[in-house]
Amino acid sequence: MTPLEAIESLSPLAAASRTPRPADRRPPGFTPLAIRSERCKGCELCVAACPHQALALDTSVVNPLGYHPVRFVDAVACTSCAICARVCPDVVFTVYAPPKVALR
Ligand code: SF4
Ligand code: SF4
Repeated sequence: MTPLEAIESLSPLAAASRTPRPADRRPPGFTPLAIRSERCKGCELCVAACPHQALALDTSVVNPLGYHPVRFVDAVACTSCAICARVCPDVVFTVYAPPKVALR
């Protein structure tokens, strides 16, 4: 069982998060994720767990802890499902939901 399958077996919401929201419903400039990359240990739990492959390690950067930190590679694909925040042991992520008016 992959990490993602394990998470989905515990949460129907996680399985539902596989359906992406159309990016054109979001206000211009909306960013669903804030990443405190200085805390990242490069374990890749979040990379494996993201259902939309929106995260990857940035091998061009070394953070103050000496690791390649995670970075956002596909903001359009992100659904604000917060799975990455749940699996991260180092509280790297803050996830923002789109404003409700944007989802109507
Ligand atoms: S909130 Fe995190 S896990 Fe969910 S889609 Fe966005 S980057 Fe991936
Ligand atoms: S789970 Fe947290 S510590 Fe591990 S790579 Fe992702 S952001 Fe970094």
